[in-house]
Amino acid sequence: MTEPTKVLHPGTGPAGTVELLLPDMIADYDIADSVESVFAARPDAESVTVYLGATLGGYLLRTDLEAADDSHPVNTKSYGDGDGAILPGTAPISPLTATCPQCGAGYLVVSFDAAEPPPCRLDGVSLVLG
Ligand SMILES: [Zn+2]
Repeated sequence: MTEPTKVLHPGTGPAGTVELLLPDMIADYDIADSVESVFAARPDAESVTVYLGATLGGYLLRTDLEAADDSHPVNTKSYGDGDGAILPGTAPISPLTATCPQCGAGYLVVSFDAAEPPPCRLDGVSLVLG
């Protein structure tokens, strides 16, 4: 069901990339929003590698968003942007940290269903928040 997404580069990001786990049924614009929220929350991150369910989706560089989306610049503000508050009716996205209790690998997620936690990429153990 998962089709190659247009917003991501194929493969994994360069060393130091932040790994973001997303549901496998997600629209391109939701992927872009989620990645943007990660860059906003993690100023140190230069790239985000996205997994769609159990599938590697691809990666985005911070510079990709800065170059491609002039109307929504990352981590910059211009006149009229206010304090960055979310517009009414828009679901806020704030990435959460999920950790593998077995190997300690850390991931970011934008939603977390405790009844069905995403698996660790390395060993398949269900992740826990925090
Ligand atoms: Zn693990």
